Amino acid sequence: MRHRIAVVGGGPAGLTFARVLHRLGHPVTVLERDPAPDARPPGGTLDLHDGMGQLALGKAGLLAEFRELSRPEGQAMRILDTDGTVLRDWRPRPDDRANPEIDRGQLRDLLLGPLDVRWGRNVTEVVPGTRDGVLVRFADGRQETFDLVVGADGAWSRVRTALSSVTPHYTGVTAVETSLEDVDTRHPDLARLIGDGSLAVYGANRALVAQRNSGGHVKVYAQFRTPPDGHPDLDTAPDRGAGLDPAAPAADGVEAVRSSLLALFDGWAAPVLDLLRHGTAFVHRPLYVLPVAHTWAHVPGVTLLGDAAHLMPPLGVGANLAMLEGAELAESVAAAPGDLDEAVRAFEEQMWARAARWAKMTAAGLDRLVSPDPAEALALFDEVQPS
Ligand SMILES: Cc1cc2nc3c(=O)[nH]c(=O)nc-3n(C[C@H](O)[C@H](O)[C@H](O)COP(=O)(O)OP(=O)(O)OC[C@H]3O[C@@H](n4cnc5c(N)ncnc54)[C@H](O)[C@@H]3O)c2cc1C
Repeated sequence: MRHRIAVVGGGPAGLTFARVLHRLGHPVTVLERDPAPDARPPGGTLDLHDGMGQLALGKAGLLAEFRELSRPEGQAMRILDTDGTVLRDWRPRPDDRANPEIDRGQLRDLLLGPLDVRWGRNVTEVVPGTRDGVLVRFADGRQETFDLVVGADGAWSRVRTALSSVTPHYTGVTAVETSLEDVDTRHPDLARLIGDGSLAVYGANRALVAQRNSGGHVKVYAQFRTPPDGHPDLDTAPDRGAGLDPAAPAADGVEAVRSSLLALFDGWAAPVLDLLRHGTAFVHRPLYVLPVAHTWAHVPGVTLLGDAAHLMPPLGVGANLAMLEGAELAESVAAAPGDLDEAVRAFEEQMWARAARWAKMTAAGLDRLVSPDPAEALALFDEVQPS
């Protein structure tokens, strides 16, 4: 008998799970809250590591297409001092394919392919153990049952509440994101400063990071330590409009946020501050995490993947882990169709152990990147960048 399998969330975790399962000949339903693939901006660029995100794409049969789309030159990384001095300037070798960058929207479209995605399905509750299987309730009052429900619904997962009472907590660090459009034409000096990949500047308890996406689009992140503002929903942050204060009118909000950021980074080199001066809208992203080593008592018929299972600081790992887990769970489920539950249980043990190691490393990494001593950030890069 075919199992009825659903994955909640069409992010990197859910789509990779569904795509690998589909490739292995198993039907799977993707339940996604967004009403359409382009309903909101897809976010910035992702570097996919060869042993993680790229491994997962290989399992989905999509590695060749990824290589066509991705940007190996985007692995370049430049670090400046707050006075504008170049401290490090790493450039990838021509054959280096260890961590090429891809826009999130391109990755999503690549994974979507032939999948059965039900858009506009906002899951509100998952109830395991009913007579007909795992019940999924939607915001519009509809409901449906499945044999396995995989929660890949991100930081503020609704599926997680069926397994764990734990909720994410604030790290003490907030990122405010802004963008530069057409950087090569409109801001050629900034384009040269940023280079082909990323630029980062570290000061005491604050940092400015700029990342090149495709098509001359650049995402800029101002990161700093601050108390939480009481608006923790990362998932809906892009919809909240402009500014640190979501109640402020949009137009005023943009300029008010710009001036408060310029005040926060006062004294930094003028070309670096231009990243903020020329930024368009600002999106407030307080960084939340789940506790390191978050686990739960196994519940037949329900599991979690990606940020829903182990939200951690954004240090270039979350999407990679989410995709690898998606691919691995799909392979386990496909290899053991008779005993779905054993396959899921074994997968969870493996996921928990690996995610705990990364959660510990990224928590320590965030403390060093946004630290009272900016030398800590440089030392961290020296440890991880190839010499
Ligand atoms: C600023 C920033 C930069 C980052 N940079 C990187 C990087 O360079 N490399 C990297 O590996 N990681 C990076 N990350 C982390 C990465 O974005 C996440 O770890 C990754 O997106 C997690 O994937 P996911 O599929 O688990 O969750 P998500 O990407 O959050 O996807 C969840 C999906 O579920 C849907 N959903 C949510 N609730 C419901 C519901 N109730 N019903 C139905 N659908 C629902 C959402 O609409 C969404 O489509 C970054 C994160 C941030 C914030």
